[in-house]
Formats: sequence, C-alpha cells, structure tokens
Amino acid sequence: MSRVALVTGGTRGIGAAISIALKGAGYRVAANYAGNEEKAQAFSDVTGIPVFKWDVSDYASCAAGAATIEEALGPVEVLVNNAGITRDAMFHKMTPSQWNEVVNVNLNGLFNMTHPVWSGMRDRNFGRVVNISSINGQKGQMGQANYSASKAGDIGFTKALAQEGAAKGITVNAICPGYIGTEMVRAVPEKVLNERIIPQIPVGRLGEPEEVARCVVFLASDDAGFITGSTLSANGGQFFV
Ligand code: NDP
Repeated sequence: MSRVALVTGGTRGIGAAISIALKGAGYRVAANYAGNEEKAQAFSDVTGIPVFKWDVSDYASCAAGAATIEEALGPVEVLVNNAGITRDAMFHKMTPSQWNEVVNVNLNGLFNMTHPVWSGMRDRNFGRVVNISSINGQKGQMGQANYSASKAGDIGFTKALAQEGAAKGITVNAICPGYIGTEMVRAVPEKVLNERIIPQIPVGRLGEPEEVARCVVFLASDDAGFITGSTLSANGGQFFV
C-alpha cells in the first residue's frame, strides 16, 4: 500500500504543487487548508486530492485533523509543514497581533501539526517531516521581523527534531525557497518584479512552485534516508549559507 502524505496549506501555491507532485509519485495525499473553500474545492475537483479544513495554529484542531486523516487514509508517514502567512510591517509599526499571528501559524503550527503524528512515526520506525521555511528565515528581511523570526525558528525546530528522530527512522528537513512565482509574487507590479526583484536572483528568474515540490518528493523518498537535519536552499543562487 502506498504511503500517506499530509500537506498543510496544500491547496494553493507551493503547497498545491507539493500535493500534486506527491500524488504523482504514488502517495495517497491529504491536503489541509485554512478557509478558502472555493480554492480548496476547485483544487480537489481538478486533482482528486481530498481536502481537509483546520487551522494549524490551533493544537486541538491539528490533533483532530490528523486523527480524521489517519482514519480515512491510514497513518501519516510523510508530513509537509507548508502552511504559512505574512503580516509585513516595519518593526516600529508592527502590532502584537501581526507578530503573534505569524508566529502562531509559521512556527507554532509546526509543533501543533508534527506532535500528533510523531508518536506514530516513532512506533512504526519510519517518518518523513519536511518543513517549508524561507530564504528570509536564513538571511532576515526588513519589514518581516515576525516572518523571518518564525522561519528561522522552523530551521531550529528541524535540526533539533532530526536528532530525536534519527534512531527511529524519521528524517526531518527544511526547504528554504527564495522568490517563487506564486499568485502572491506574480501580483507584484511587473516593473517592480523586473527592475528590483529578478535582478537579485542570479539565475535571472523566479522559481516555480514545482521546483520546490520536487525537492519535497526527494526528501520524502527512501533514497533520502541519510539526509536529516538539513536545510535545502531553493533560491536561484540568491543567498548561500
Ligand atoms: P499561499 O498563500 O499561496 O498558500 C497558503 C496555503 O496555506 C493555503 O492553502 C492556505 O489555506 C494555507 N494556510 C494559511 N494559513 C493557514 C492556517 N492557519 N492553517 C492551515 N492552512 C493555512 O502560500 P505560498 O504557496 O506562497 O507559501 C507556502 C509556504 O512557502 C509558506 O510557508 C511560505 O512562507 C513559504 N514560502 C513562500 C515563498 C514564495 O515566494 N511564495 C518563498 C519562501 C517561502 P487557504 O487557501 O484556505 O487560505
């Protein structure tokens, strides 16, 4: 029987590409989303991937969501923590709620979603956790103190958990995408994209969501069993660590 993969925020943008790529690689995929019913339903209709609504910033909802998927599809063996948000502001104007919302989804969401499936992965001596961090968690970004802190936290979480999972056949890795051509990025005015953003990217273009998705498929595979605690940069050469 094929493995079950759960992708948080798996109905739009990078997450949708990850869900589709994992399905293409033979996984039974469940895609979570927060509340955009129209997009989630359209995604499910087109791909045949079942979608499940809950908020990753709420622990009880994540535990219930994981239980629902395990009952419907079987144990979650691959978890992709992809759901993420931005609430950008310069720090002197940033409100406590802008800080808390971002940290609650982007960082606490990783605890909330990984914890309910972790014991099962340990019991079965197999698991793959892939966390979608960001280039801005590696280098910092002005106007994104909240986002950069949360995404840097994702990397620390990845490194610590990798050490705990290693003896139990569980790998935990992070991917740090740079500028990816999702709806959000493509909505930036063309002039800004062409004159300010793309010139920062040595390969001379935005990344494609599918390019991040292929990294996930590799890290989820048996072939990647010796890779854990790593941070994979997918940023067109924009930043090296
Ligand atoms: P999108 O905004 O296109 O999609 C976000 C997805 O996450 C949607 O499915 C959304 O559900 C879901 N989501 C948002 N909040 C929650 C929540 N609280 N609980 C459950 N699901 C939630 O995001 P991107 O594809 O642009 O980004 C995906 C990930 O990649 C994020 O972690 C982001 O930080 C990271 N990233 C993105 C980059 C880029 O260039 N786009 C660059 C670097 C990193 P719904 O549709 O219901 O709102």
